[in-house]
Amino acid sequence: MTTPQQPFFDVRMKGFLARASVAEVLACLAERTVPLPSEDSQFPQLADRVLAAAVASPVDVPAFARSAMDGYAVRAKDTDNATLAVVGEAMPARPFAGVVAPGQAVRITTGAPIPDGADAVLMAELAQLDADGRVQAREVVPTGKNIIRVGEDVAIGSVVLPVGRRLRPQDIGLLASIGVNAVRVHRKPRVAILVTGNELLPPGSLPEGFRIVDSNSPMLEALVARDGGECLPVRYLPDDYSATRDAIRDTVADVILVSGGTSVGTEDFAPKAVAELGELKFHGVALRPAGPMGVGFLPGTVLLLPGNPLACLCAYDLFAGRIVRRLGGRSWDLPYRRMTLPLASKLASMVGRMDYVRVKIEAGQALPQAQRGASNLSSAVTADGFVLVPAERDELPAGEMVDVWLYGE
Ligand code: AMP
Ligand code: MG
Repeated sequence: MTTPQQPFFDVRMKGFLARASVAEVLACLAERTVPLPSEDSQFPQLADRVLAAAVASPVDVPAFARSAMDGYAVRAKDTDNATLAVVGEAMPARPFAGVVAPGQAVRITTGAPIPDGADAVLMAELAQLDADGRVQAREVVPTGKNIIRVGEDVAIGSVVLPVGRRLRPQDIGLLASIGVNAVRVHRKPRVAILVTGNELLPPGSLPEGFRIVDSNSPMLEALVARDGGECLPVRYLPDDYSATRDAIRDTVADVILVSGGTSVGTEDFAPKAVAELGELKFHGVALRPAGPMGVGFLPGTVLLLPGNPLACLCAYDLFAGRIVRRLGGRSWDLPYRRMTLPLASKLASMVGRMDYVRVKIEAGQALPQAQRGASNLSSAVTADGFVLVPAERDELPAGEMVDVWLYGE
């Protein structure tokens, strides 16, 4: 569903007329974001890819009955006090060619095929060898003992990995064991990062005079990698309308992240450029500290992320990250573990606006970090996590139980 586009209202130096709610923006993005088409992928590129189709096994594993132990392949009945003649050996991929007859045993190693006639394996530790090489069981061995049956690990035709599975190392090992090389996975979303700001120096520079170092693009690259996307090389744009518009127009990507230039200052060209090139769906969101953000569709999704690094992180986490993950077949949910803790002190907010508040965990309580200084990225570095104050709340009193989303483990 698309809504008719509003005429573009140039908010520069006027301020936002109205801000969309976080819930409204999320509902729109959820509706307009579907996983990318699948592609084939194979070893050794499978780690962390997301399956677009379930995998069923084309074979039984193991395909033959094999020994789980080093010992003697025997007829179980014979282990009841008989002395057995050792008539040969079975090794992995070198089976015993004959049949184990009553009163006979075959020396066998782990993984070797069980010889015909045998129906159990006597562990080496329970076998008593006499001087003329005959063997006697110290214990009666039941039928089937120490034998891995055909299909015991994986049965032919069984689904071993479900659709949507993010492949773990052991999953990849299992795929190899069933002889599956290529699997269908979701294509990784391609994410373009366009950085605006005449004042910026590239990461790796020292801040110099009135110039500051771009901290957003390296942070965004790490976030995108975490969420299973692939970043195109970062592009730096001057604060100039046509340069901004042309760069957005010429970018081919599933998601375009524009850093900076998203607000209502004279140099904030990105919203106008998106409105000219496609649909600027939202500009201004009731979210602190990421209020000046925007969302557009070109048809790739464009996220206008505030230049202020903390606001940039907040806008990425609440919106952009979900898009990147869902495009790649991953979860819409926040990728953070959640803990419910009492607030150590009161949290001031405002009805009609969601607040993203960094907190430290101290003595089992969530201690809010100074809400001032929306540009201080260090507050997210020293914090253990964040609390989202719902739009309908004015303030949260000390002692209230809140969900803390944890940045780390
Ligand atoms: P803007 O959103 O472009 O108005 O920028 C808001 C504030 O964030 C300004 O103080 C910028 O200098 C700063 N800023 C913008 N982009 C970046 C960036 N990539 N890295 C660090 N700070 C930035
Ligand atoms: Mg700027």
